[in-house]
Amino acid sequence: MLCMKPLLCKSFVAERGHADYMLGMSEVQTEAPLLPLLICPDPKLRKTARPVTEADRGEVDALIPSMFATMYKAPGIGLAAPQVGRSLRVVTIDLAPDNVPAPIALINPEIIAASDEEAVQQEGCLSVPEQYADVTRPARVKVRYLDEHWVKREIEAEGLLAACLQHEIDHLNGVLFVDHLTALKRNILLRKLAKAQKDQQARR
Ligand SMILES: [Zn+2]
Repeated sequence: MLCMKPLLCKSFVAERGHADYMLGMSEVQTEAPLLPLLICPDPKLRKTARPVTEADRGEVDALIPSMFATMYKAPGIGLAAPQVGRSLRVVTIDLAPDNVPAPIALINPEIIAASDEEAVQQEGCLSVPEQYADVTRPARVKVRYLDEHWVKREIEAEGLLAACLQHEIDHLNGVLFVDHLTALKRNILLRKLAKAQKDQQARR
């Protein structure tokens, strides 16, 4: 189920040209148990996740299918282990180009090159539900990682995939997309989130 189709992601980027974390989901059925999603301001979202080692192999091999299941169910196009309360450097992504599943699992992902040119994408986050903002980041990145078979790989990305990779790797360092906004915009967005969460609790 976990295959690499970065080229499909690239063509998707060219067609769509913007990020919307709630659209374009594919329904991939998986038996893996769902994990609870942590919502901002949960302090666990602010911790730096530790690198995965061989000793974590069993745990990570079980975690990845559950992260995909949780991400598809949300739905979202990217998820980092700290968002499900696991302080490990593991990320799952699926941009589902043309509604075709294209899952990418990344263990210990590292940005090894980034373009000087920047690009703006609208971003959202499963840990900052229903809040969106334009975020400026390097337009292209090269990322080195281990895939779900623990094979060393590199991926070069632009557009939505580049933004998504940077967004998820930020999570591994305790950084949220709101941190890339001005203090004024961030405060407005976080106040809206707090109010929405309060209203939701009141309705329960
Ligand atoms: Zn996020």
